Amino acid sequence: MSSWRIGPRSRSCSGRVLLAGDAAHMFFPAGGQGMNLGIQDAANLGWKLAATVRGRAAATLLDSYDTERRPAGAAVVANTRAQAALFCAETPEEVALRDAFSAALAQPETNLLWARRVAGFGDPPYAVAAEADGTSAHPMAGTRLAGLALRSDTTAGTAPHTLLHDGKMVLLDLDGKHTPQTASADSDDFAHHAAAVDREVAAEPWRDITSVLIRPDARIAWASTDHDPRRRAKGVAVTVRDMGVLVQRDARRSPKVALPRGSPHCSEGLLISTQMVFPRGP
Ligand SMILES: Cc1cc2nc3c(=O)[nH]c(=O)nc-3n(C[C@H](O)[C@H](O)[C@H](O)COP(=O)(O)OP(=O)(O)OC[C@H]3O[C@@H](n4cnc5c(N)ncnc54)[C@H](O)[C@@H]3O)c2cc1C
Repeated sequence: MSSWRIGPRSRSCSGRVLLAGDAAHMFFPAGGQGMNLGIQDAANLGWKLAATVRGRAAATLLDSYDTERRPAGAAVVANTRAQAALFCAETPEEVALRDAFSAALAQPETNLLWARRVAGFGDPPYAVAAEADGTSAHPMAGTRLAGLALRSDTTAGTAPHTLLHDGKMVLLDLDGKHTPQTASADSDDFAHHAAAVDREVAAEPWRDITSVLIRPDARIAWASTDHDPRRRAKGVAVTVRDMGVLVQRDARRSPKVALPRGSPHCSEGLLISTQMVFPRGP
């Protein structure tokens, strides 16, 4: 027998140890969102770790794992706490509250909101930097790739997620104008595709997007409605720089990574731990 408590860890990292999945957040199991949450932790961390060990990440990139995923864990913990309260309703007041909540779920919008949360997709968008000219980033930046449908007669095919199978950043041009390659997006770490939005199927926000940069974990790093390819190239360059991805044209010149031990920063971390139960010392 062991006891457990509900709650996120105060940090997803400590020195060279990075926590993902149930090791980073514990919550009531009913509701079924723990696996999706943990998989998204791993997807967020995987490409950042890969970039770090290949010497292609600034110190800030790995630190962003904790910044981005801790709110996601906290959102699921809060959600499961609410579910647990309803699940365990006993008093007439609690049962009445549960009935009222069940009735509210008959509303399609409320139902969709909670369906997203229960699926582990209700976390807040990640913070993104402003555009190169100082204006706010596009509202889709920082959100999960969703609702995009591509026309089948374009080079990128129909299913956007298939573009991510190589684990690269994907720069997708959607208006027929090629965003010029820049030092920021001209490397083995990036894939560049042209496609057209299937307007009959795609969600409304996609209809005006001219170019989008998608991270390997299917988050939108940057999106633009600008039809000027040179301005778009600048936007991509600034985004990549601010994310902390260091791009080198010649991979053979990648520096060897020396990861100091005992540092308090996640940026020097190397290990992923799932729910590890470390044996106690004698
Ligand atoms: C009853 C129940 C129902 C659930 N239903 C759902 C659901 O419907 N949908 C959903 O999305 N989620 C559900 N979850 C949650 C989901 O199972 C977890 O969130 C998910 O499995 C966490 O994955 P993980 O890899 O982080 O941890 P784990 O799956 O716990 O994996 C950790 C692994 O590390 C191993 N390990 C531990 N210590 C050591 C050590 N010292 N050395 C080596 N190995 C070690 C363990 O044996 C284990 O294999 C449910 C959970 C429970 C308990």
